[in-house]
Amino acid sequence: MSDCIFCKIVAGSIPCQKVFEDDDILAFKDLFPQRPVHVLVIPKRHITSLVTATAEDAPVLGSMLAKANEIATAQGSPDGFRVIINNGRVGNQEVPHLHMHVVGGPDPVGPMLKRL
Ligand code: AMP
Ligand code: ZN
Repeated sequence: MSDCIFCKIVAGSIPCQKVFEDDDILAFKDLFPQRPVHVLVIPKRHITSLVTATAEDAPVLGSMLAKANEIATAQGSPDGFRVIINNGRVGNQEVPHLHMHVVGGPDPVGPMLKRL
């Protein structure tokens, strides 16, 4: 989508601190990290959110989840992490291109991260 900020990051017209990419997904550091490790993992193809995702999107959604541990470990969170996906208005999603927050850090931040 031409007016989508994360599509622009995929296209390279907006810079990012890339930490991983393959044919289908891109991972980059969150601009305003909430934890020592805070990476966003996105599908390169525009999917607005899990509100609009379909069965066709299942493979890329699986790839995003399957890469989370490798990304978290490489970024300095080898002993676990959280994944958070905000969806739509009720989910307080700010950027309307599906993204998975991978958050963690070297410290025992588990209880601090838990808001649910
Ligand atoms: P959400 O509330 O789940 O939609 O989260 C959007 C996230 O995108 C926030 O954590 C922002 O800090 C992050 N963000 C917004 N713009 C950028 C950007 N250009 N590069 C990296 N992260 C961004
Ligand atoms: Zn997009």
